[in-house]
Amino acid sequence: METIFSKIIKGEIPSSKVYEDEDFIAILDIMPTNLGHVLLIPKEYFENIFDAPESVGSKVYPLLSKLAKAMKEALNCDGINIVQNNGKAAGQEVFHAHIHLIPRYENDGIRFTPQHKEYDSTEHMQQTAEKIKSSI
Ligand code: 5GP
Repeated sequence: METIFSKIIKGEIPSSKVYEDEDFIAILDIMPTNLGHVLLIPKEYFENIFDAPESVGSKVYPLLSKLAKAMKEALNCDGINIVQNNGKAAGQEVFHAHIHLIPRYENDGIRFTPQHKEYDSTEHMQQTAEKIKSSI
């Protein structure tokens, strides 16, 4: 599957790379939410969390931790949002899996605060939990 990220991985399109190993690259997002916004991209193609190979999962968290610590030190940020958009409805635009690491500063004015919906009742909330639980 050819995507903008597969072209970046192959070096056909330039990118500002901050990390690379056998399985992943991490680059600066071309349209950063904050300066230093990093995208962690697996080299193996899959679309998003729904078709992610299990082997990727165990590698991702240690890498996110490594990148987050490096970003905190290098950018002197106060926090980092780690976000993955999975599917068009969730805002995914590039259909090659990737995870955003967004540096945050006190009072930087960026808002990720989600809208809050309400369950009809405690029972409705419990039914929703049971529905998910039975699919695991
Ligand atoms: P998504 O909405 O799919 O989670 O995020 C895709 C991200 O890829 C966006 O934040 C967008 O700015 C970034 N992006 C899209 N095209 C390019 C590109 O050619 N180079 C880089 N470095 N980032 C890109």
